[in-house]
Amino acid sequence: MNLILLGPPGAGKGTQAKRLEEQFGIAQISTGDMLRAEVKSGSEIGLQAKAIMERGELVPDGVITAMLAARVSRPDCAKGFILDGFPRTVPQAEALDRMLAEKGLRLDHVIELKVDDAALVERIAGRFTCAKCGAGYHDTFKPTAKPGVCDSCGSTEFTRRADDRAETVAARLEAYHRQTAPLLPYYAAQGKLSGVDGMASMDAVARQIGAILTGKG
Ligand code: ADP
Ligand code: ADP
Ligand code: ZN
Repeated sequence: MNLILLGPPGAGKGTQAKRLEEQFGIAQISTGDMLRAEVKSGSEIGLQAKAIMERGELVPDGVITAMLAARVSRPDCAKGFILDGFPRTVPQAEALDRMLAEKGLRLDHVIELKVDDAALVERIAGRFTCAKCGAGYHDTFKPTAKPGVCDSCGSTEFTRRADDRAETVAARLEAYHRQTAPLLPYYAAQGKLSGVDGMASMDAVARQIGAILTGKG
């Protein structure tokens, strides 16, 4: 099963992708996580991407599609994948269609998480991640069970993304509305697009996605 989770920054793509990964044994592919790893390692891609990401703009299509092509060829994608944060532009979507056709693969569903901008700002402002295992949290909506200790691995170190600062969030939302929202009609025309109410609780969103995947949505 090959899926795309589409939605603005903070919509809950990563949260839902991780659940789907566990549930179906398919790989979560987050281009944002991949880029942050490149930045951390100081690679050529990382050096190119760092300033762009800090401004809340999109990294050039060519860089992203090359990175993605290498990623979907890895063995953990054999059972399928969940794309989280890719594609983000129409040229990326066209490149993905070509890539899948070459591999004889098809896209099963594109699921849009609908969340309004005010809620996104609140979600992004409170987001933090375990530095050791990558588990995602929120100050208000998903705090750790024990303050300062990761539920999953017990680590006491957490990180907040440099681009989750309020100044950058407006630019990221603008990039979404201008460059990524055109993918909605693109996938609707392919008959692949389903929408879910991303304002609902994490469990309720997961149930709506489950209904789409089992054909009851
Ligand atoms: P969010 O979780 O807020 O949706 P991501 O982690 O997916 O954000 O992306 C963080 C940043 O990484 C983006 O603002 C952009 O600069 C860059 N990025 C991630 N994926 C892509 C992509 N497919 N195309 C271009 N830039 C990307
Ligand atoms: P994205 O990957 O789309 O940028 P995340 O999955 O990282 O979004 O979610 C952004 C923040 O909002 C995280 O702190 C997460 O814990 C929280 N969150 C995710 N889904 C929900 C939800 N349905 N209700 C409330 N908070 C949520
Ligand atoms: Zn952890």
